[in-house]
Amino acid sequence: METIETDVVIVGGGPAGCSCALYTSRADLKTVILDKNPAVGALAITHQIANYPGVSSEMSGEDLLTLMRDQAIQYGTDYRRAQVFGVDVTGDWKIVYTPEGTFKGRSLVLASGAMGRPASFKGEAEFLGRGVSYCATCDGAFYRDREVAVVGINKEALEEAQVLTKFASTVHWITSSDPKDNDAHAMELMHQSNVKHWSRTRLMEIQGDEAGVKGVLLKNRTNESNLELPVEGVFVYMSGSKPITDFLGDQIALKEDGGIIVDDFMSTTSEGVWAIGDIRNTPFKQAVVAASDGCIAAMAIDRYLNSRKAIRVDWVHS
Ligand SMILES: Cc1cc2nc3c(=O)[nH]c(=O)nc-3n(C[C@H](O)[C@H](O)[C@H](O)COP(=O)(O)OP(=O)(O)OC[C@H]3O[C@@H](n4cnc5c(N)ncnc54)[C@H](O)[C@@H]3O)c2cc1C
Repeated sequence: METIETDVVIVGGGPAGCSCALYTSRADLKTVILDKNPAVGALAITHQIANYPGVSSEMSGEDLLTLMRDQAIQYGTDYRRAQVFGVDVTGDWKIVYTPEGTFKGRSLVLASGAMGRPASFKGEAEFLGRGVSYCATCDGAFYRDREVAVVGINKEALEEAQVLTKFASTVHWITSSDPKDNDAHAMELMHQSNVKHWSRTRLMEIQGDEAGVKGVLLKNRTNESNLELPVEGVFVYMSGSKPITDFLGDQIALKEDGGIIVDDFMSTTSEGVWAIGDIRNTPFKQAVVAASDGCIAAMAIDRYLNSRKAIRVDWVHS
């Protein structure tokens, strides 16, 4: 699998990550953004953004984010769709793991936002990593020819369910409401031969034993009837607000409220690692605040990397 070395690795392609990348790229630092999904961050799902300075009050969050991303790419940022599932920040090189490859950065920026949610379904926390997953791209191949459930109706759920259709014998898609008739992705998913859609249905419990998940208990909202499905994997995609830090293990210090601790330069307690935007769990979660964080971190990183000569970079051949 591919290993890429770079100056700056940024986890997350929201306004925080994109503004940071714009500044680091313009400072001639080789920059990679790893973004799970450009459609699921807080700005991406904002219908209309009327308070971002200088842009039309009619603009959608998704359109504003596209502008930010394109601007960073135009200045040389390498933007990649990839879900980060682990990091190692103990050495000089900060190592970032994704299903698409490993990235080694002379600096690391954490900008994955706060659209995570605490495990809330019965059995979800208990079976996390033993059948419960939030990443079909990472874990889908473990479920070849097996039955799995996908819970949720947002864009991420639809895309991840599509990934799972390549592996699973049956993908049970569980949604608490009906998808809209004009939702082309939902219609396409429902027409896949190995997808079974359970609409107006709630997940009540994820069941299993020491070996992992064995099934799910569902309740139909129309007739209140219960149903058990014998699945081995459950992929949960529900929205909610909590800093996304699960891929860090216990390597970076957090505040009691789950946000990452930073100093005035957005530097975390781990040298060479910065945190920006909603992942800090700031009291004022706004796109302009996230973008400002990105700028501050980028300037601090430029200073940090250019006064530190110890690491010999492999891509300089002179
Ligand atoms: C419904 C709603 C309406 C809002 N309205 C406004 C408004 O009108 N005006 C305003 O200023 N602010 C608004 N906000 C707040 C604003 O959108 C956020 O403060 C801002 O988007 C935070 O930026 P961010 O870059 O920190 O995170 P996000 O925008 O959430 O971006 C995080 C990115 O990280 C990616 N990511 C997550 N986990 C991983 C992983 N493991 N690996 C790789 N990538 C990952 C996500 O896919 C996403 O692209 C709103 C928020 C919401 C939820």
